[in-house]
Amino acid sequence: MTKKIYLPENEMPKQWYNIVADMAQKPLPPLDPKTLEPLAPEALEPILPKALIAQEMSQERYIDIPDEVLEKYRVYRPSPLFRASGLEKALGYSGKIYYKYEGVSPSGSHKPNTALAQAYYNKEEGIKKLTTETGAGQWGTALAYACAQFDLECEVYMVNVSFKQKPYRKILMNTFGANVYASPSQRTQAGRAVLEDDPNHTGSLGIAISEAVERAVQENDTKYSLGSVLNHVLLHQTIIGLETQKQLAMDNAQADVIVAPLGGGSNFAGLAFPFLKEKMQGTSNTRFVAVEPSSCPKLTQGKFRYDFGDNQGYTPLMPMYTLGHNFVPAGIHAGGLRYHGASVLCSQLLKDGFIEAKAIDQLTCFEAGILFAKAEGIVAAPESTHAIAQVIREVEQAKIEGAQKTIVFNLSGHGFVDMAAYGDYLDNKLTNHRVDNTAVQKSLDKIKRYQPDNFLKELTY
Ligand SMILES: *Cc1c(COP(=O)(O)O)cnc(C)c1O
Repeated sequence: MTKKIYLPENEMPKQWYNIVADMAQKPLPPLDPKTLEPLAPEALEPILPKALIAQEMSQERYIDIPDEVLEKYRVYRPSPLFRASGLEKALGYSGKIYYKYEGVSPSGSHKPNTALAQAYYNKEEGIKKLTTETGAGQWGTALAYACAQFDLECEVYMVNVSFKQKPYRKILMNTFGANVYASPSQRTQAGRAVLEDDPNHTGSLGIAISEAVERAVQENDTKYSLGSVLNHVLLHQTIIGLETQKQLAMDNAQADVIVAPLGGGSNFAGLAFPFLKEKMQGTSNTRFVAVEPSSCPKLTQGKFRYDFGDNQGYTPLMPMYTLGHNFVPAGIHAGGLRYHGASVLCSQLLKDGFIEAKAIDQLTCFEAGILFAKAEGIVAAPESTHAIAQVIREVEQAKIEGAQKTIVFNLSGHGFVDMAAYGDYLDNKLTNHRVDNTAVQKSLDKIKRYQPDNFLKELTY
């Protein structure tokens, strides 16, 4: 048995995979909130460079990765695929479990896969500074690192609860040269409006996005960068799944189940989309399971609606599973999963039955994280423990069925900068947070007026 399956550097994929090309049901267009008409691509120009807008709208199946980005990828890619032999043993499982380990990147997660690409395209178009939001700090760190690589300034709005929980993340971002502000902040209208209502607001990704977008719109040589959700972000992440396909083939294995945590959907998409291609063509029966926290259950308790990507309503309206853009999830430690909506592409695929979704409680996830640390020696990011917890469930189910399934999951990041979270868990300070459907309904009522004519009538769910 091979423990680590390494793909040689010269076999690293040179193109990203764009799933839109293979979707029978194409994603619905983003809408202009003022007119509820499809958004003109130019409307995105104040915040995104042209190359990324083109990728956002592209229907090309494969898109070349620029040489400059490939060169940066080679610092940590191809990432290893591990056989989870320790976990298999701990669970007494006779099937196979593999994990793709994205924690080997300089910032400790999959996020540099898109951060490097985004920094590159912005630099090419003469941009000097990028603004962004960050939850747990993983995205901010990735973008800070990418900006350092391409000599750009970086301004990060960090969700207040994480700013307090994860001081080392801020220091890491500062080390890469970024300026970091706790959000809501006094630096923007969006931040000041929230603080006026509640000076001790825990913040949310939605609010932090509003702040970062507001800052990008104000300055000509500044653009905004989003770490998840958008089509081009998911596109950049597909290098994860493209590598994994080659690595599984090297080990003569085929995935029966693919599992990944879902915050906005980028690491899930990154691993799953290249495999989904075969499923959509009807040549595979692989199951795809996206795992979200019970405290932020957009896929399992939210609804498919047009909604804003941010809290203040600065972004276009996007068709997605959402809890409503004013929904503020509990301050759980998996900060990267505290987002009210899911990407348009993942939402469409869930709606069309190509993927499944599960919600898991915080305590179950940390318990799984600790089992995994003991069994495999890697301390997973709190986000990634959601995938591990689901893998354990899949193993239990496979045992009941007497099946020997091959389960592949994304270990999207390591947890070395999240040790306070593990500490809180070990000290019994963490609790579970479920969301009741009336709270979700209340939040969704507020976005009723943004649904175009007939949209709700035509929905059958
Ligand atoms: C950001 C993050 C996630 C969630 O974001 P996606 O866009 O859904 O991938 C998951 N795991 C880690 C380690 C992260 O940093």
